[in-house]
Amino acid sequence: MITPEIVKFLQEEAQARFLRYVAVDTRSDEESSKSPSTPGQLVLARLLESELKQLPLRNVQLSDRGFLYGVLPASDGSKSPPLTFLAHFDTSPSESGAGVEPVIRENYDGGILRFPKNPELVLTPEEEPELLRFRGDTLITASGDTLLGADDKAGIAEIMAALAAMVRFPKLPHPELRIVLTPDEEIGRGTDGIDLSRLGTYGYTMDGGLVGELEDECFNAHKAVVLFKGRNIHPGYAKGKMINAAAIAARFIAALPEAESPEHTEKREGFFHMVELKGDENEARATLIIRDFEAAGNERRIELLRRQAAAFEVRYPGLQISPTITEQYRNMNEVLAKHPSLVDKARRAMAAAGVEVIRKAIRGGTDGARLCFMGMPTPNLFAGGMRFHSKTEWIPVSALTKASETILHLCRLWAEEGK
Ligand SMILES: [Zn+2]
Repeated sequence: MITPEIVKFLQEEAQARFLRYVAVDTRSDEESSKSPSTPGQLVLARLLESELKQLPLRNVQLSDRGFLYGVLPASDGSKSPPLTFLAHFDTSPSESGAGVEPVIRENYDGGILRFPKNPELVLTPEEEPELLRFRGDTLITASGDTLLGADDKAGIAEIMAALAAMVRFPKLPHPELRIVLTPDEEIGRGTDGIDLSRLGTYGYTMDGGLVGELEDECFNAHKAVVLFKGRNIHPGYAKGKMINAAAIAARFIAALPEAESPEHTEKREGFFHMVELKGDENEARATLIIRDFEAAGNERRIELLRRQAAAFEVRYPGLQISPTITEQYRNMNEVLAKHPSLVDKARRAMAAAGVEVIRKAIRGGTDGARLCFMGMPTPNLFAGGMRFHSKTEWIPVSALTKASETILHLCRLWAEEGK
């Protein structure tokens, strides 16, 4: 039973923790080869380490690669295998995360949001209709010169608040919880160096957006590097001799179906996306990413790329085209479909917390997807923030509380029902 007293406790804990965590600059850095990529992440990791010890959790350990682990033993009579909750402490490299000054906007009236440190910047309900769901609620934003960092410090605050509640109110039933807070998710290294022996049987990432989001699908992802080898010669005397690799590469890309590009696709549609094209007459290189929810969709695109390469070699005698295809990640639904009770319990936990469930397929990847294929089935739940990676990032305070409540309900369902 989650009493009004517990809800109030979660509300205060989650908000206070969230405001404490966003004050630390944890922007990750793709250019860095260190792990974690930036020292600020370790500052937050140490703060969280001491908070986990204070709760107290057991076996709290901050690894030298910046992964923070801790264990809360199961409550009496739990039937569940160990469960893991994950969130990441880095923020996106796309905006500054230094000197974040949160603005707390009580009793939101449905109007335009303005930002004290950036008079040009506004966020309107026309642009962001979801704002209107939260009339009367308290919203938190940054001040206009940084992102807020709700991605994913909201997730961390929600997990920490739920843990604090389980310690404070020992009647709340829960499985053994193996908590993992991770660095460098935003630069795709959030599972590199994770200690698999410290993970639970099943997991949940708290890293989604709008309240109610439940994500159990993501893209199948491939990368294609297409190398063009031509032949250069003085352009004045090139007739019948020159094979211009750069010009042919441009034609090759232009010949791909334009309708299958990110600019023209949504929902369950897949695409080709050219991320880089460079070269000269002798050699050119095009890098593409290929995405689809269905494995067959990507196979079809890879086949099309290979056939087009063969056709171009016929069209331009002497030209060599070699496509190199690598798999990046796979749709986690392949794994999660075999463990339906994970998503089913998440759905029921949200309903018990009074949250309307929004089933979604992520048009991208998540750490949960990688963990699914590393042996721990892990869907993604809402953390409640919106407009991630931008200066207009915002989160309703009620979302923090609802996510923490969802964690408590999930823990109860697992403890009572087992697998
Ligand atoms: Zn995130």
